[in-house]
Amino acid sequence: MTTAHDRAPLVFDTTELGRTSGTTMHVAREIAAPEAYGVAVYGVPSSAPIDLDVRFTAVSEGVLADGEVEAVAEGECARCLAPVRDTLRVHVQELYAYEGSVTDATTDADEILRLDGDLLDLEPAVRDALVLAMPVTPLCRPDCPGLCAECGVPWDDLPDDHGHETVDPRWAGLEKLRLADTDGEPK
Ligand SMILES: [Zn+2]
Ligand SMILES: [Zn+2]
Repeated sequence: MTTAHDRAPLVFDTTELGRTSGTTMHVAREIAAPEAYGVAVYGVPSSAPIDLDVRFTAVSEGVLADGEVEAVAEGECARCLAPVRDTLRVHVQELYAYEGSVTDATTDADEILRLDGDLLDLEPAVRDALVLAMPVTPLCRPDCPGLCAECGVPWDDLPDDHGHETVDPRWAGLEKLRLADTDGEPK
């Protein structure tokens, strides 16, 4: 039989807490992200390292998970498409109710997390905290000037006087006459 413990690196066995209020268990380790978090153009890639420093404390109704999570998000700048790497540091604090506790019996399934026997699945809390810390608009730097709308080259790679000559359509006819005159019979 496979348990959640076998499947996910963010599932912790809290048996050693013995459901004795005040008992704590400290976990500091690096795990591999079980899946990608974020969106296609920006996020923590699947299997990327996630640093955990979390303390689990038995309380009367369950186990409190409290700690710090750190991971590197990668993606591209929303303005110039250059690669972006940000270190995300987030705080995680969640109460996991014991099965059969008063809290378990009196709250809806979506209101509070629950232990599965002695197994605590920290994955949803870690995922939510990391995704919330991600910028809505990832940028290579706050004042990134983006790309020239005419040629698509990053403004950072273009000279200050960069611009595009545009011929006014009203003068295009005259230009044709001038060329015809040059090529025509001498007067
Ligand atoms: Zn940029
Ligand atoms: Zn240009």
